[in-house]
Amino acid sequence: MSAHPNASSVQHVNPIDSGPLSIAEQNQLLTLQRAILESVARGADHMEVINQICRLAENLLTNAFSSVMLMDDNNEFLNVYAAPSLTLAQIHKINGLRPSPGGGSCGNVIYQQKVQYVSNTFTDERWQDIRHLAYEFDVRSCWSIPIFSAENKVIGTFALSSFEHREPGQFHRMLLEIGSAIIGIVLNRNKSQESLRQFEKVFEGSEQGIMVTDVRQVILSVNPAFTKMQGFTLDDIKGKTPKVLSSGLHDAGFYRNLWESVTNFGHWRGEIWNRRKNGEVFPEWLSITEVKNTAGEVTHYVGTFSDISDLKSAQKEIQYLSSHDALTGLPDITLFRDRLENAISMAATANSNIGVLALNLDNFKFLNDSLGYASGDKLLRLFAERLKACLRETDSICRHGGDEFIILLNHMHDDESISYIVDTLLNEISSPFAFAGNNISTSCSVGVAVYPTDGNDFEKLFGRARKAMSQAKEEGRNTARFFTEKLNTDSLHYLNIAYGLREALAHHQFELHYQPQINLSSAQVIGAEALIRWRHPHNGMQPPAQFIAIAEQTGLIVEIGEWVIEEACRQAMEWQKNGLPPLSIAVNVSAVQFRRGNLDKVIIKALERTGLEPRLLELELTESILLEDIDHLLAQLDVLKQLGVKLAIDDFGTGYSSLAYLKRFNIDRLKIDQSFVRDINTDPNDAAIVRAIVQMAHTLNLEVIAEGVEDEAMLKHLRESGCDEVQGYLFSKPLPAHAFEAFINSR
Ligand code: C2E
Ligand code: MG
Ligand code: MG
Repeated sequence: MSAHPNASSVQHVNPIDSGPLSIAEQNQLLTLQRAILESVARGADHMEVINQICRLAENLLTNAFSSVMLMDDNNEFLNVYAAPSLTLAQIHKINGLRPSPGGGSCGNVIYQQKVQYVSNTFTDERWQDIRHLAYEFDVRSCWSIPIFSAENKVIGTFALSSFEHREPGQFHRMLLEIGSAIIGIVLNRNKSQESLRQFEKVFEGSEQGIMVTDVRQVILSVNPAFTKMQGFTLDDIKGKTPKVLSSGLHDAGFYRNLWESVTNFGHWRGEIWNRRKNGEVFPEWLSITEVKNTAGEVTHYVGTFSDISDLKSAQKEIQYLSSHDALTGLPDITLFRDRLENAISMAATANSNIGVLALNLDNFKFLNDSLGYASGDKLLRLFAERLKACLRETDSICRHGGDEFIILLNHMHDDESISYIVDTLLNEISSPFAFAGNNISTSCSVGVAVYPTDGNDFEKLFGRARKAMSQAKEEGRNTARFFTEKLNTDSLHYLNIAYGLREALAHHQFELHYQPQINLSSAQVIGAEALIRWRHPHNGMQPPAQFIAIAEQTGLIVEIGEWVIEEACRQAMEWQKNGLPPLSIAVNVSAVQFRRGNLDKVIIKALERTGLEPRLLELELTESILLEDIDHLLAQLDVLKQLGVKLAIDDFGTGYSSLAYLKRFNIDRLKIDQSFVRDINTDPNDAAIVRAIVQMAHTLNLEVIAEGVEDEAMLKHLRESGCDEVQGYLFSKPLPAHAFEAFINSR
């Protein structure tokens, strides 16, 4: 490490600021964030953003360098992903770091799954295995923090290493947190795992033997045909290199040529003599291809082995497989990209427009789970055929992983002609599929970006079409949206809110308001629904619509939800202590809390700490929760039901509810969605639906509560429908705790 002007040799630890942030520090962090957000919003390449984060962090901490390390595919070693101030030779020395109790700050982040601040690397036990690196690099302190994947797994580390002994202040901790959070977001976006998984699926069924290795040629997987041909199972050779197959008949020069060809041309094909597990030597036709990620770096090698006599047909198949999706037979993303780029250069001369559509099935996960994967695959094939049938010869379509498709509409005059085709697609898709004796209904959400208005390359157009697609999903599915500039500024908004929510948690800016629930036959208040509010330091009181969705996407809802549950239980107990009758308290929980948090444990803890009777706590689940991993969900719900906690389905009637689910999940209460109540006075259909829901619920021994009751006429309708309870502005808006208490006392 040459670039450390005043590396001090003093052995004591320099305590840096530890109090709250100064204005100057706050400004520095804000400037840093803004700079990063700007490049994210500008659509900068992920490496560029990550390097930028590293450099900005280095600007804010002198005499130090920053680094990002990620776990390898086998989840064994940490390798440097970005470290703009280190040389290649230095990076090489750090690579292959094994997470262990003595594996340094970064090794320990992985080993202990949490942040590590080491202020003296020369003496700290956590550096005992790699102390030589501390001396060699003259790194005297090293602070490292985990980087999380979208699934909340620790996938790597973001670290600041200093040439002096020092402890992090509040400012540096935040600097690391902001950095790792954004790096996590950027990496997740870029994840190319999905396409690799598809790749593997294709090869599972292939007649040829296939081997996938990582970039160091360590064997990661082989398919059944490989095992049949070579005799080796994956267990036999996983973690080894293809040398285990070597027959000894080729000299070193042969293998050198082979790998030179792979390195220079991306592939090698030819005849090779290998040895089976039983020792037999035999000739094979081998094809080795490198796999690159979107940044153009080699991540894997794929070797395809076949019986020499099948050579001709085998090669044809490889060609086809390598450019088409095995499931649907549609072009893969690389071929599609080529076509789009050609279309763009033609459209530029012809002065015409191109429509790029990102299209996603609305309920595929649900269908896949309920029909089984084989049927899910079949459905995708049918779906692809239908889409293809709507397109012209000159258009193109490709499947981009899972249930997402990209479509290219060539030679378009204007937005109207694109809308026309999109409408046709939506229409076609929404007519039911005859499938295994059933009629399966599905729909899709479509996002549209247009060349030249929205961009002139694949990345821009596809990225923007996807943004528009997410918007279409949010706006109720089975619909299409064109990209607008507003969606672009939305990503900035997203990152700002996500950061603000962390602050809100740390600085207690959330509060709960309570809306009374009234029993219709007794006219008594029987409980309250707790609804969260965010008292924003600059923007005033924020309703949940402003931030819950983002809290869910970032996973912060887990922590926020924990706070909500405990606070609601605490408040309910406080009311009891103040002499109010025992009221039940309903809390909204999001699907993410089940998926990522241990909701059952959180609730048990809250009940224990506050002393609230479990039967007084009700969880409001939305119907979307039923699309989750059912077993995992059921296990948690079971624990809670055993305790006596009540379950309600919120916004009932808007999602996938079915009677089977209601029974299986042991639900106590249905909450009819506001939209039905809103029009109950004027729309006979809604009135009929409400009656039907109430009847059905009563047959299943469920209670029914209606929300959004605003006037006497609505109340009358609901009473006549047999509804048990009501909630709405007619009685009271959601109130702060003390006002709620006054409301009860005044009755
Ligand atoms: P929700 O659970 O369906 O809550 C009912 C919403 O309707 C509340 O909006 C409430 O203020 C509003 N409302 C109540 N009575 C009336 C009425 O008579 N007329 C009309 N027009 N509206 C009425 P709010 O508080 O803005 O909450 C919106 C949504 O945010 C909630 O819908 C819930 O899904 C979510 N939410 C609120 N708090 C939490 C929370 O702590 N965690 C989670 N995960 N979600 C929450
Ligand atoms: Mg609710
Ligand atoms: Mg609701």
